[in-house]
Amino acid sequence: MALLRSYGADRVVTGSCHLLELDNGLKILVDCGMFQGAEEEWNFDDFGFDPSEVDILLLTHAHLDHVGRIPKLVKEGFRGRIYATCATFELAYVVLLDSAHLMEEDYRTRYKKALRRGKEKSVKAPLYSVEDVENVRLLPTEYVKYGKSVGIGKGVRAVFRDAGHILGSSFIELSFKEKGRKKRVVFSGDLGNRHEIVMPKSKKSMKADALLIESTYGDRNHKSLRQSVKEFKKIVRKTLLGGGNVIIPSFAIERTQDILCLLKEMYLNRELPECRVFLDSPMAIRATNIFNRYHDSLSERCREFYERDGDVFGFRGLIFTGSVEDSKRINSYEKGAIIIAGSGMCTGGRILHHFKHQIWNRKNAVIFVGFQAYGTIGRKIVEGADSIKLYHEKVRVKASIHTINGFSAHADQRQLLEWMRAFRDLGDIYIVHGEYDKQKVFKRVIKERMGKKAKIVERGKSYYL
Ligand SMILES: [Zn+2]
Repeated sequence: MALLRSYGADRVVTGSCHLLELDNGLKILVDCGMFQGAEEEWNFDDFGFDPSEVDILLLTHAHLDHVGRIPKLVKEGFRGRIYATCATFELAYVVLLDSAHLMEEDYRTRYKKALRRGKEKSVKAPLYSVEDVENVRLLPTEYVKYGKSVGIGKGVRAVFRDAGHILGSSFIELSFKEKGRKKRVVFSGDLGNRHEIVMPKSKKSMKADALLIESTYGDRNHKSLRQSVKEFKKIVRKTLLGGGNVIIPSFAIERTQDILCLLKEMYLNRELPECRVFLDSPMAIRATNIFNRYHDSLSERCREFYERDGDVFGFRGLIFTGSVEDSKRINSYEKGAIIIAGSGMCTGGRILHHFKHQIWNRKNAVIFVGFQAYGTIGRKIVEGADSIKLYHEKVRVKASIHTINGFSAHADQRQLLEWMRAFRDLGDIYIVHGEYDKQKVFKRVIKERMGKKAKIVERGKSYYL
């Protein structure tokens, strides 16, 4: 029987890494993500399996918590073939390079500090380097198309279908024969919120003997999108008309493009007051250019924008500030600017520099459009801090602070259930990719609403599918 073991995203959200071993000896890894936040230290642990024995790596999408440990996997001996959509490969490269640069930078700072204390030997080397990322690109890769069945070896076939989560995101159906009988295992990856700002709705699957389902929002439903969009537009208009600037800390992939899309819609509907919109993040600029190139895979609204202008996101007043000089020049705008910058949780990046120049001014507004983890500057501001410490300087928080939660890229409880109900034939359900308390709620809801007993996957435990 097929044997499943998870080595990440088990009772936690991050570190997605699921190993499937088939009777015919094929070892298939689905995702190899990084642990983030409180689990970050786990990245340095052993995988729990021998990377050199893995034959195939399938990638659901390019978020760091699904691809972030691939360079480590390769460093430790993986030489197999990687399958993913073309957009996932492109975005993953951007994400991995950014992650390697950040880790190298962080290492250099820690090393310098430790050197002054004579403790440089105790400084842990980064998880991987830029060179390790380049080594991933030397491995054999196969670009898959949505809905097309591909042979991945030893009679096993894989179909990737649009998960509607981020550009290139997929859920994966694996089929193989076991004792003369056809078996299907489905990995949901992350499933998209069906709000269709940038991403279209996820597709549905037909049959699965076993399903691994994500559960990020398994315990609740999102606020209505319409309400969130209304709120967003209102704050933007009020701040700009009141002579202030709008600062939006944003994640480079998907959320930034959602925001650009909404601003373009405002511009086209003449709802956007005269202003400049700065996309001030090299990574978000790279990601936006990739989204633009794959305009055919985006929502209907984005495809219409492309048809109209030959560019999904561009409109008069939108400026990409790639260089540091251009970024610094934004400081001279005392009013009439919308600044979108990373990092999304304000743990680093250009957003801190904008906070320093803008957050003390009561005419300005900060709009949080994504989750702020405990311990981050973003969280402190959201929770009402009077002042924050930026570059060793105490800065008063006088700008108005707003949190808009309706833009999530994940399906909520109702959407997850709806997606599962669409299966014509659904066997065992395995819950992954979620916080344990939320998974318990989701498990109970699956039992109540679908009459099915789901299992919450545990690290390293063997499940015979
Ligand atoms: Zn994701």
